[in-house]
Amino acid sequence: MSELRRAADALRHAGKIVVFTGAGISAESGIPTFRDELTGLWSMYDPQRLETANAFRENPALVWSFYLWRRRQAKEAKPNLAHLLVQSLESSRRQVSVITQNIDDLHERAGSTDIIHLHGSLNVPKCFACHRPAELAPEQFAVPAHGLEKEPPRCERCNGRLRPGVVWFKEDLPVGAWKGALTNARECDVLLSIGTSGVVTPAADIPVIAHSAGATVIHVNLEDVSLEGENEVMLVGKATEVLASLFEAAGI
Ligand code: NAD
Repeated sequence: MSELRRAADALRHAGKIVVFTGAGISAESGIPTFRDELTGLWSMYDPQRLETANAFRENPALVWSFYLWRRRQAKEAKPNLAHLLVQSLESSRRQVSVITQNIDDLHERAGSTDIIHLHGSLNVPKCFACHRPAELAPEQFAVPAHGLEKEPPRCERCNGRLRPGVVWFKEDLPVGAWKGALTNARECDVLLSIGTSGVVTPAADIPVIAHSAGATVIHVNLEDVSLEGENEVMLVGKATEVLASLFEAAGI
């Protein structure tokens, strides 16, 4: 039996499905993954070096501006066919939940309703000092026209600097999100893992946890990222194309 047929059979018979996504699902919407080089003003920076609390301590304006730029990039992007197909699973009388590592809001904008963000969001900044979430007026999210550095706004309560509400390297995941993700991963029949390299932990453990609990894990990626276990299927290709073929084969 072909890998596509095995995956389609598993999907067709699943009552509970978890869709686990990484940067690769948004790549075809024009948002670069960690494996892509940055463009324009930011081309001289390595994103992984800007995504730490230390980088923010050293140069808050640089890191804040980097996230303003990423937020604009995400805002200008549109959900692609892969996000839309994930949403369409919800109308197939199955219980569907999305666990995403992405900080964009393309699943929401595609209409998915049950979404856990493991790594936070570009839209909800918080105070670097007291951690209180902050609301900003749209103009405060404006990307600086010249140069790369714009000082972050201040917290209304303690006057600390605001930082992006995302999870940086070496930071803990939000407790509620992680607990919810573990529960969903342990209870699902199929985990569909789309566009993730599986190197950023602990998020990368989610497919392993689902698999150990008895789920079939279907990977969709440009590269083979499977662990070669039983009940695991690797579908190599672009998320939009693979999901279209998979859902057609499953009759969804
Ligand atoms: P990653 O950048 O480490 O890996 C991306 C994976 O997607 C790779 O394995 C690549 O082969 C695959 N891929 C690329 N294009 C694809 C396509 N069209 N179809 C299918 N697969 C494709 O991303 P990650 O595993 O999500 O982990 C890194 C971290 O990156 C996450 O914590 C996430 O928060 C952050 N990130 C998020 C965004 C976003 O919100 N859109 C963008 C960049 C990075």
